[in-house]
Amino acid sequence: MHPEAAPAGALAASVLARIRVVLIGTTHPGNIGAAARAMKNMGLSRLYLVSPKIYPSAEATARASGAHDVLAAAQEVDSLDQALAGCVLTAGTSARLRAVKWPQLTPRDCAAELLEQAAGGDVALLFGREHSGLSNQELDRCQILVNIPANPEYASLNLSQAVQVLGYELYSRFLTLEGGLIAPQHQAAPAEALEGFFGHLEQAILDIGFADPKQSSRLMRRLRRLFHRARPDQDDINTLRGILSAAQGRKSMRK
Ligand code: SAH
Repeated sequence: MHPEAAPAGALAASVLARIRVVLIGTTHPGNIGAAARAMKNMGLSRLYLVSPKIYPSAEATARASGAHDVLAAAQEVDSLDQALAGCVLTAGTSARLRAVKWPQLTPRDCAAELLEQAAGGDVALLFGREHSGLSNQELDRCQILVNIPANPEYASLNLSQAVQVLGYELYSRFLTLEGGLIAPQHQAAPAEALEGFFGHLEQAILDIGFADPKQSSRLMRRLRRLFHRARPDQDDINTLRGILSAAQGRKSMRK
């Protein structure tokens, strides 16, 4: 059965407007324009460009075609922190199945998860560089990874076509929702609160003499994954930071 079409004008006010498409370090401006077009076709409008190599550009404008409004409204920023400020869920796209064990979803399941969490705030979908994808530090910011199943001998899609596939799954899922918004079961803490906690955790680990996290990126990566799986809310973060502060305080009292 074909799902019902959304009425014109309804998308801007819908949960789709809470989805940020974040393109990181894009090399070819044509891909930025083509991504904007793919987004508009699929009812998405919030484009973030983190340090694009060449932008603005006539090629981006030409490839955007009828989606010049998405391109004109794109936020150009120079750090991922800026693009993720306020986001309650971050998903990273990856052409390769990574060696690190990370919650890895299909585009369909990822779309369902993003739309569910978007009821509680903005959510982000990260796309990497044409040549090297997303760095490990960028993946560290993601609660989930998504991989588009493809020919194992050539699984790397063009950037804008990856945006198209994820956009299609988001829009298809959106059409099955009644009223556009679903109530989140849980209000996850925003990205900047999580980063504040991870910074505090790293310092506390050093202060209490457990380890020097700078010597071991694997330790912090494991801990990040643990807490990303738990999806802590703001109260959880406050409790955890209170415990860390107490542990740090006791240590300094012993000195
Ligand atoms: N050589 C890079 C490929 C980058 S392709 C790598 O191995 O990671 C550029 C971007 O398009 C990727 O960072 C990702 O955001 C998206 N992409 C391409 N193919 C994909 C796939 N099969 N699944 C999910 N995302 C994909």
